[in-house]
Amino acid sequence: MAEYRVQKTFDAFVVLNADGERVGPYWANELAAERERKRMQDAYDRRRKRGPRPCLGCGAVFHSDGIHHRLCDPCRNHADALGREMAG
Ligand SMILES: [Zn+2]
Repeated sequence: MAEYRVQKTFDAFVVLNADGERVGPYWANELAAERERKRMQDAYDRRRKRGPRPCLGCGAVFHSDGIHHRLCDPCRNHADALGREMAG
């Protein structure tokens, strides 16, 4: 999972992506860099569709880890149990 982070250089703060590449400008203070990091992380999460979404199984809104994650925990557990019953 890609995470952005703030790193201090010798005289400024920068935002790095998951590959350790600098994204965006140099920031004079850590708070500004942290704000920018959060903005980039939020944009990334939106692209990956992380965050609240309605469950495909029951329609309840749950926190999704990504585009592959479409069932809430109760439905996922239910699906797992069904899968075991079918297999067994
Ligand atoms: Zn559900």
